[in-house]
Amino acid sequence: MSALRSDPDVVIVGGGLAGLACARHLQQNGISFQIIEASDGVGGRVRTDRVSGFLLDRGFQVLQTAYPEAQRVLDYTKLDLHAFFPGVLLRIDDHSYRVADPVRKPLEAFEALFTPIGTMRDKFRLLVLRQRLHRQSIDSIFKREERTALDALQKQGFSPTIVATLFRPFLRGIFLERGLKVSSRMFEFAFKMFCDGNASLPANGMGAIPDQLASALPPDSVRLNTKVMSVSPTIVTLEYGERLKARAVVVATEGPEACRLIPGLKPVVSCGTTCMYFVADYDPLGSPILALNGDGSGLINNLCVPSSVAPTYAPAGSSLISVSILGIPKEDNKTLEVPVRSQLKSWFGQKVDSWRSFRTYRIHHALPSQAFPALSQPQKPVRMQPGLYVCGDHRDIASIHGALVSGRRTAEAILEDFAS
Ligand SMILES: Cc1cc2nc3c(=O)[nH]c(=O)nc-3n(C[C@H](O)[C@H](O)[C@H](O)COP(=O)(O)OP(=O)(O)OC[C@H]3O[C@@H](n4cnc5c(N)ncnc54)[C@H](O)[C@@H]3O)c2cc1C
Repeated sequence: MSALRSDPDVVIVGGGLAGLACARHLQQNGISFQIIEASDGVGGRVRTDRVSGFLLDRGFQVLQTAYPEAQRVLDYTKLDLHAFFPGVLLRIDDHSYRVADPVRKPLEAFEALFTPIGTMRDKFRLLVLRQRLHRQSIDSIFKREERTALDALQKQGFSPTIVATLFRPFLRGIFLERGLKVSSRMFEFAFKMFCDGNASLPANGMGAIPDQLASALPPDSVRLNTKVMSVSPTIVTLEYGERLKARAVVVATEGPEACRLIPGLKPVVSCGTTCMYFVADYDPLGSPILALNGDGSGLINNLCVPSSVAPTYAPAGSSLISVSILGIPKEDNKTLEVPVRSQLKSWFGQKVDSWRSFRTYRIHHALPSQAFPALSQPQKPVRMQPGLYVCGDHRDIASIHGALVSGRRTAEAILEDFAS
């Protein structure tokens, strides 16, 4: 069946970063498209709610300025990025220890030499690892033998103490997986990104990233509040039976939904997270740093004060506190708040009583699992059958970078196929 004259060349199902990146590349190459998005806005997993003057990202996440694809497609100046401190604050047995990047913060890194986070040899190995990854290209990282992150760290001689107190909470916070089963390739990629650039937040919240991509697309090219029920190479069927025709269809949804729409796609395992926001009239960390739970007790994995990184995240005089928990607890928000507050009090004292609980986000599918050997093929095929394509973070290195790359790869595949 050939497409009618008014039909777009391509229908893209999903207006997350991958769908938007695909659209942008098609647009730059003169191919018309229509994005069909189920929700009320673009951005998918990267959205920000504005509530009473606060910016609430739907789950804690950061843009790594070193992401090559983000550098290629985003205008960082317009995003007005604000950087986290290059290091982390570890909470271990009622004490806090700062671990700084030895290259960017040598003085503070020197002080950290004398903290009980691993041995002197661990700290030296950390520097060696950092420098190796800094020199290595991303391609060569993804060509190194793949194993679990735990195996890789043990093989490099890191002690169980530094693995438990630093690497475990750090990797949990990024990959949202328990244990250290995440692919060593993915770990090295993430570690390289932390060392080569800044973890940062746009002044208008993480949602400013997809907004920037969408603002460059033609008017009316995104149709919101419209769920796609089924797809075939040239036909997309919408919720109420409407059918759209095109020369090609791209499924740019999150992995589990892509599996529903394209039977036969390898199942995607979800990693979930819960983000609790609190509001206080002071900054409990006193600096734009990411705090990690280094002793593994309690529910909280990591915590930060986004308004200390980018003041626009909270009205003047208030601080926004973001608390991340691994997975989706069964308890309702009120019940969950009890152990979380009690752990917060053990970190920050009785003043936590003055914190106001603000909003909780439960994100069932935050990331596809990247447990070893998920990255044995870092770039999965985007062509399903002639005229049917798939993109999204589950086809690439699961991250903002990977979602953007997969969108471009898909557009390139379409252009190649249209040309032939
Ligand atoms: C809490 C959290 C923390 C994260 N932390 C980081 C981080 O620090 N750094 C990093 O790089 N990455 C991070 N990520 C991952 C990153 O956000 C994702 O990898 C990326 O946004 C995925 O984009 P995507 O376009 O592939 O998918 P999505 O963003 O999921 O987009 C899919 C879109 O498809 C739409 N859709 C689904 N089904 C249908 C349908 N049937 N019809 C029409 N539309 C449909 C959805 O509504 C959605 O808009 C985090 C993610 C979360 C949730």
